[in-house]
Amino acid sequence: MGCRQGDQPMATIDDVNSQQKARIHRVATLGTGIFIHLMVCWTVLSIGHMNISPTELFALSSVAIAGFVFLALLIGVEWNLSLEDPDMAVAQMIWALTVVVITSHFALDLKAVVLLSGLAMVVMGANRLTRSQQIFVACYGLLIYMLSVVYLTNVDALGWVTEIVLIIAFALVLVFGPALYQFERNVIETVISDKNVELGKALEQIKELAVRDELTGVYNRRYLLDMLAREKAMADRKNDVFSVCYVDLDYFKKVNDRFGHATGDDVLRSFARVAEHVVREVDCVARMGGEEFVLVFAGTGERDAVRGAERLVAGLRDMHVTRAEPRYRVTVSVGITEYRQGDTIQQMLDRADRALYDAKRTGRNRMVVANGEVTSLSNPG
Ligand code: GH3
Ligand code: MG
Ligand code: MG
Repeated sequence: MGCRQGDQPMATIDDVNSQQKARIHRVATLGTGIFIHLMVCWTVLSIGHMNISPTELFALSSVAIAGFVFLALLIGVEWNLSLEDPDMAVAQMIWALTVVVITSHFALDLKAVVLLSGLAMVVMGANRLTRSQQIFVACYGLLIYMLSVVYLTNVDALGWVTEIVLIIAFALVLVFGPALYQFERNVIETVISDKNVELGKALEQIKELAVRDELTGVYNRRYLLDMLAREKAMADRKNDVFSVCYVDLDYFKKVNDRFGHATGDDVLRSFARVAEHVVREVDCVARMGGEEFVLVFAGTGERDAVRGAERLVAGLRDMHVTRAEPRYRVTVSVGITEYRQGDTIQQMLDRADRALYDAKRTGRNRMVVANGEVTSLSNPG
């Protein structure tokens, strides 16, 4: 069991490792975004619209990328784990904004292109910030942008009006960009969560199908064995009983031969409905295969299981096989036993099967309890 600190479960080493990997991945993503921004700067430089030498831009680019490598290294050596924000998202954003603002101020008339393309990269990273972190980063961005206008920019190159328009554009993107991104993310998350609900339902259906018999819809042998194991565990714990009725339709081959296989299938389905009707919610009807079924009576001894089997037989009296011969009825032979302490499930099922065999051997249309008791059934064949 994991240790607990207050209500918060402690993160395992695997959790921490995968979180750290995700953090390094995010630094790399933002770093790549800034790398693309620098490529834009180099393109602008190459067409002569940047007031900086290639050597200076190279130095600037190197420092910019080194910043991201440094942040990734801090995460790599787990220095970030002692911080209140181990994602170091604010530090990354501040670094990215600084790079974008400084580089854009060397772009002459194409400043808007450089500034806003860089800002697009930054905005992508902003969705990881909390609301207050976003406000902090936006304020920082505006502050250094204004400082850079005052100290770095040759305002005459663009004129004050353009500079003011740029500041407004910068502020708008910085403030509303993350909000829009968050909105988009919320929409996607809603879609994903709806899909997850649908998937959950589909999974439930698949699980249900996996334990059901295809033809009749009652439980299959796999589910039956699971249920019997659960009943046995409970009976062992509480010194309790439960019973099984092994049911085989008599001369079922004749039904197929006489009315056709499709009618035979209908009879199996109708039988399943009758059987489900006579058992309680806590009991179980399962098809073992062919025309053999097992009814499990939870918390019930042989006596009451016999009552259950009688209800089944009574139900079969009302069950029509075909309209062509409305008086034709199917009969069943039933082997019944209750759980005896120490039984394995297989021993119990074998005992019920032997009782069923006795019922067949002694004439069919009857039930035999494994203790030797035989009840002849009055169902007309
Ligand atoms: P008994 O009284 O000794 O049980 O005789 P029976 O004819 O019921 O038993 P037998 O084992 O000779 O034949 C079982 C028949 O059940 C043969 C098989 O074609 C039929 N059967 C098994 N599964 C299906 C099924 O899914 N659909 C249909 N229609 N028939 C099936
Ligand atoms: Mg049969
Ligand atoms: Mg059979």
